[in-house]
Amino acid sequence: MFCPECGSTDKEMVGDICIDCFLKEFQMIELPKRIEVQICSHCNSKLEEGKWSEENIPEEEIIYRALERNIKIADEVSNEIINLEIDQIKGTLAYCFVEVTGEVHGTQIEETHDCEVKIQKTVCPSCSKMQSGYYETVVQFRADKREIKPEEYAKADEVVERTLIKQSSSDKLAYCPQIAKLKEGYDYYIGSFKSGKKVAESLKEEFGGIIKESPRLISEDKSTGKGLYRIWISVRIPEFEINDFIKYEDKIIQVHSISKNSFVGADISTNKKHNIPMKNMDDIELVKKANEVETTTIISKSPSIIQILDPSDYSAVDLEMKDEFADYNIGDEIKLIKIDNYIYLLN
Ligand SMILES: [Zn+2]
Ligand SMILES: [Zn+2]
Repeated sequence: MFCPECGSTDKEMVGDICIDCFLKEFQMIELPKRIEVQICSHCNSKLEEGKWSEENIPEEEIIYRALERNIKIADEVSNEIINLEIDQIKGTLAYCFVEVTGEVHGTQIEETHDCEVKIQKTVCPSCSKMQSGYYETVVQFRADKREIKPEEYAKADEVVERTLIKQSSSDKLAYCPQIAKLKEGYDYYIGSFKSGKKVAESLKEEFGGIIKESPRLISEDKSTGKGLYRIWISVRIPEFEINDFIKYEDKIIQVHSISKNSFVGADISTNKKHNIPMKNMDDIELVKKANEVETTTIISKSPSIIQILDPSDYSAVDLEMKDEFADYNIGDEIKLIKIDNYIYLLN
């Protein structure tokens, strides 16, 4: 075949020209002379193809990846070996070169390219949101019909912090820019709705109670008609605490344990255990606090009657004997709670 470029007739042809003329113009890889990478100076995440990646990776690795991503290899190349080198880093500029060896139409060739990688320090959207105090959710920590105790606030702070640390591996907006300490409870401002919801669930898990979400429209984008919502999530923990006495479906129950979705207690008349769903919290009436339990003395007993002293006026009161008091003796101390003018003995 005849090469129109060099006139030779005895060479392998690539399309219309000979291999030598083809290789004169051919480049195995394409690589820009300069690549810019944007890195968040706070969290080290970087901007790639318009998206911020959340990985926290070392600077050299960022440079290598930027080179790799920008190399385009021609289809004709086979068995290529690409060697990336950082020659030197001056400030935010890395001087790099790329060596390639490969085979093109049976001929082994090599080439080198220079490239500068510029690392631009900036602030990613998540970090700038955090810096500006941006939040999507407010978690309101409240107690039903009572004040929250200092130790409950301390515990709640701990639960919120622990939850946000756990969330931060998957959510960059898992932060709390502000805690508003109001008389009725704390308002925890949370960066994202997702993490705010988790915070509310963790509080409920710790204290029991009822969660209610209410979205509030903050502003409306006139051009799209889309609203910006913030979600207020209230966590209302029960009025009653462990060992308190409550009335539920006409039974007086002493609370033994409180969990996320229910609480367990025993009917003080029958000693029967009850598991009451937390969602029925509003049907529950707190009748006596645990610290209102009194102590008295047994003054006589028979198989059917147990007689005690009423601690308020020292009058003798006959009460029905129950199995659980059979082992008590005259003169023993016994606990009682008075509810609606009735005395209940406690085991
Ligand atoms: Zn030629
Ligand atoms: Zn960042």
